[in-house]
Amino acid sequence: MRTGSEKLEILTSRRIPEVGTVFLARPPGDPVRRFEFVDAVDLGRPRTEKWVVMASTQYGCACSCRICDAGNFGYHGNLDADTILAQIEAAVSLNPETPPQSARMFKVHFARMGEPSLNPAVLEAMRRLAADARFTTFVPSISTVAPACAVSSSFFSELKKLKDEHFKGGRFQLQFSLLSTDKEARDALIPIKKWGFSEISEFGQSWVRPGDRRVTLNFALASEIPFDPAEVGRLFSPEAFLVKITPVNPTRRADRNKLTTVWYEPPPRIAGYEAELKRLGFQVILNASWPQEIEGKASCGQLAEETLRGEAQFG
Ligand code: SF4
Repeated sequence: MRTGSEKLEILTSRRIPEVGTVFLARPPGDPVRRFEFVDAVDLGRPRTEKWVVMASTQYGCACSCRICDAGNFGYHGNLDADTILAQIEAAVSLNPETPPQSARMFKVHFARMGEPSLNPAVLEAMRRLAADARFTTFVPSISTVAPACAVSSSFFSELKKLKDEHFKGGRFQLQFSLLSTDKEARDALIPIKKWGFSEISEFGQSWVRPGDRRVTLNFALASEIPFDPAEVGRLFSPEAFLVKITPVNPTRRADRNKLTTVWYEPPPRIAGYEAELKRLGFQVILNASWPQEIEGKASCGQLAEETLRGEAQFG
């Protein structure tokens, strides 16, 4: 299926009941490069209230995090800005009854396949959306594992300028996916050269201006993953950061690494962390698994993994 854009060809899709659809796409006719994107709403909320698009920024991912399938079929470079935007245009054209400006919040997570800070075209895509009269309620969301390299350093400093210019007053969400408070565990889970905790802490302090959202620290916690709320308190300020704790939803990699940990209600260990973090002054978000997401096998990279593995076996 072709969308209105010449930049994107949808190969297959999977419904996530009551939430949306995951698509596997490629540049038209491309024999190798694949990416996923998601058109969704928050469970139980109408699209006019909150519309969510999750857009890929890279073909696969070079980071090879131990809980994620995005890199299972390798890394084939960055999407250009047109192809990043084509995912958003595809979501818009799939919902002709809802113009994007009619949604109170049109949120784009640059967080599906790929590490966004390694792709400068993400900045261009955000600038173009900010200048597009159809996207007056656009809220960008960047989720990053904080790679340490010249490209990402330049990305983060440009991102800060972009946020201050176009998305002041709480219209930008920035998340660092740390996964663990233990350096060794974090290195094992995210096996790339990364910013240390202190660099992330300093950056967050300089990022947050009056009216901005706090920077999110995300921890996807399996029972084997070390986590110490006191370390969060020692390293980060509750004025600049909030803490989000999530399950480790099933992916091939998470399963293989015995890290998958699904919960719909916080287990006692997680509830204990929440209480301790709140005592330290942090806002805490517990982001439970959604049955629809688990049953729909909608975690990042799962549709690509299944489709491409099937092609490799039967192609
Ligand atoms: S979690 Fe993000 S950075 Fe890590 S492999 Fe998946 S897409 Fe890449």
